[in-house]
Amino acid sequence: MLLSLPPGDYLRPGSYCVPPISPYLHDVATDVASWRRQLIWRVGMKRSIAVLGTGRMGSALARALLASDHRMTVWNRTKDKAEPLALLGATVASSALEAVTSAEVIIVNVSDYKATAGILRDDAVASAVRGKLIVDLTSGTPQGARDAAEWCGRHGAGYLDGAIMATPDFIGTDAGTILVSGQGQAFRDNEAVFRALGGNVQHVGQDPGRANALDSALLALMWGALFGALNAIAVSQAEDIDLGELSRQWTATAPVVEGLVTDLIKRTDAGRFASDEETLSSISIHHSAFQHLLELMDARGIDRAVVDGYGFFFQRAIAAGQLHGDFAALSQFMGKAA
Ligand code: NAP
Repeated sequence: MLLSLPPGDYLRPGSYCVPPISPYLHDVATDVASWRRQLIWRVGMKRSIAVLGTGRMGSALARALLASDHRMTVWNRTKDKAEPLALLGATVASSALEAVTSAEVIIVNVSDYKATAGILRDDAVASAVRGKLIVDLTSGTPQGARDAAEWCGRHGAGYLDGAIMATPDFIGTDAGTILVSGQGQAFRDNEAVFRALGGNVQHVGQDPGRANALDSALLALMWGALFGALNAIAVSQAEDIDLGELSRQWTATAPVVEGLVTDLIKRTDAGRFASDEETLSSISIHHSAFQHLLELMDARGIDRAVVDGYGFFFQRAIAAGQLHGDFAALSQFMGKAA
């Protein structure tokens, strides 16, 4: 018998006498079994978890969960890479099916969604996910996450999608940040699991695609900084500046850049593109300093491919009569392809 509940509409039990009906458990028999498992867990035992994929990141996730005493099964396509986790107390499964069958919460961390689909969409595994919660922490697109949530819903499983905003060494630490989206109730019900993964694991919305959308936005920011650093290194080397000196000066300047980024986001949000008394710097001031950079790069034969992209947006703003606007005015030209 199938219960049809609106996704995310979850009846929480006020006491342990009432079995919970979760959005990801559609089958009544499975619900009762799950209720018994939750009852056991709530009186002291932790969730049983499987981690599928124990590469660099998956191993860090598994280690953090083991450190917080979760019952863990791990599986990796190349079994050798999962074996070290056995020494820490994990059970190493011989197949993805065995791992999925063993656990209530299935955390997936492989290279991409194609790999996730290859593992979960096997017929036997697809049947075994019913009544379980899939948490895919693999990087992907917003639409990929929405499609995966839809597939899980059709197979009677809950789904949360996560974007890991950290390198493996941050996992399990207070500074470990993971953005999670999808069924909020499933996130709250598994708070202890997420807490073990990092001090800053946040639920960012019901739309399963939201974590990946935020991930892409933040990656755009990060690559802006990293490609900027590559340019700075090229300029420094051409001008015989020691890279240690560059690093020290960057540390001193970073708060100014951070302030400019925060101001840019705030002004764009408010649509305050004209220069005013709070403007930190106009397009014209940036454009003029930008000419110095181009001149130096040309003189030293440094590749301009990245900075020519900046020049393109300066030109669009100037052609639109916004030379004296706030730097934030440039955001009007970035959102739409020319
Ligand atoms: P990794 O060390 O290269 O590990 C990749 C994992 O994916 C391995 O377990 C690999 O299994 C598995 N895999 C690849 N193709 C597969 C397939 N077709 N079927 C089954 N398993 C497959 O990469 P990683 O650094 O752990 O990254 C994993 C995920 O975390 C990626 O989505 C990445 O974007 C995300 N992430 C990583 C970082 C980071 O700093 N490392 C940060 C944020 C997010 P085998 O061992 O058998 O090859």
